[in-house]
Amino acid sequence: MNVGGACDNASPSFFSTLKMTQMMTQAPDTPQALYRALPSMDSLLAKPSFAQLQQTYGKAAVKAALDGHLHAARTLISQEHRLPNWCSDPAQLHGCLVDQLSRDYCHSLKPVWNLTGTILHTNLGRAQQSEAAIKAVSSVMRYPTPLEFELAAGERGHRDNAISGLIHRLTGAEACCVVNNNAAAVLLMLSAVTAGKEVIVSRGELVEIGGAFRIPDIMRQAGCTLVEVGSTNRTHLKDYEQAITENTAAIMKVHTSNYHISGFTAAVEEAKLGELCRERGIALISDLGSGSLTDLRRFGLKQEPTPQAMLLDGVDLVSFSGDKLLGGPQSGLIVGKQSLINQLQSHPLKRALRCDKLILAALEATLIHYLTPETLDTELPIMAKFARSQDTLRQIGQRLQQALIPLFQPAYGIELQDCQTQVGSGSQPDTFLPSVALCFTALKGGSLSLLEQHFKQAERPVIGRMSNDQLRLDLRGIDNEAELLAELSTLGVQL
Ligand SMILES: *Cc1c(COP(=O)(O)O)cnc(C)c1O
Repeated sequence: MNVGGACDNASPSFFSTLKMTQMMTQAPDTPQALYRALPSMDSLLAKPSFAQLQQTYGKAAVKAALDGHLHAARTLISQEHRLPNWCSDPAQLHGCLVDQLSRDYCHSLKPVWNLTGTILHTNLGRAQQSEAAIKAVSSVMRYPTPLEFELAAGERGHRDNAISGLIHRLTGAEACCVVNNNAAAVLLMLSAVTAGKEVIVSRGELVEIGGAFRIPDIMRQAGCTLVEVGSTNRTHLKDYEQAITENTAAIMKVHTSNYHISGFTAAVEEAKLGELCRERGIALISDLGSGSLTDLRRFGLKQEPTPQAMLLDGVDLVSFSGDKLLGGPQSGLIVGKQSLINQLQSHPLKRALRCDKLILAALEATLIHYLTPETLDTELPIMAKFARSQDTLRQIGQRLQQALIPLFQPAYGIELQDCQTQVGSGSQPDTFLPSVALCFTALKGGSLSLLEQHFKQAERPVIGRMSNDQLRLDLRGIDNEAELLAELSTLGVQL
């Protein structure tokens, strides 16, 4: 805990008249006199300004903070034979307490501007939610909701039922299972369907997603044995065929969403693997990663393999993320065959990995948008961001640039430059959307690293990207032009 900080800087101390008179009669700077000159806790708490703090933050918090300052003051007296500055200036102590207490009570998960050029930024919370999802979440937070209750039948229900009807309509899947994220979905699929048995995976698909999530590690964790087939660049149907034994539980396909192997390559399509698995009586499972439910080519992105296409090709279970290209809350969806989904639902891990009502409410609201695909590009924030044209972004940029130049000169210059936005979250690493960046450069007396710090300390921190001696703000990420202008104007004026 900060017990005084800037308030304890050395400087001559001045005492209240009362204390001063007392002190004058004794040796003025003996430790005893200094200890006596320290105000008491009760006298501090009784001051109107501190009483007001207690109204805001509660007596215990104010008392604990004051305790820290008094303790630091006693240490200062014993070590340096002097009083801290605030003894002569109660306003200074009050200011310190306000800083300290407001820091303790401020939210670390506050809104920021993601102008990094990566739309689905994992460090910035991935997909922003639609207004409908936000409304659905606040309503189930506020009121009881039939999370595990069938209103019509008046009996106990299953929490995943909230979305299973929607998933059936959107993907054709017989059933579905929802967990906390796609990593959990993969772990659950493997644990429930393949534990103690072999799973065949192509060497070209032994993906590391980031952090500790590598397909071989997840398999070990799930208790199945990985059987690698093929080579890094080429895997053929016969490689899979030859690897099947009586111990094989499944073939697993992993969508290599975060890298791209090009050149002399071969992979086996799901439709062919589906046939093989049916013949040999084993399961075909697929980790799709992003798993979009809509055609992304309208934005100039590549089409992602969809869960519905995978199921038609004969894949038994498909898993994908809720907060990547789907544009919903953090979650992992597993869709597919009823009998296998039943196995997942009754596995003990499902209880540990299940989603709460907030996530399910947001996911349901997100999926409802997909029933009317023509509204996706206005209702789902990630789609709205993908849909912006470079021309629109250039016009926004010109307006911002004109308004901001006078506020940032002469220390900083502002230019507009073409740039490229990434999807992010490991999706489509080699596809970019043409965009426009507001680029700040340091001129005489300016410092780019100071500017970057200053932007991060804004009321709503502005996060850009440092590159080539520029602080670049990719405008595809903005939520509201007028609000960004206000934020950046304040930052300029404060410089
Ligand atoms: C992103 C990804 C995951 C992990 O999904 P989370 O929702 O981040 O847990 C797993 N597999 C693939 C192929 C991915 O792209």
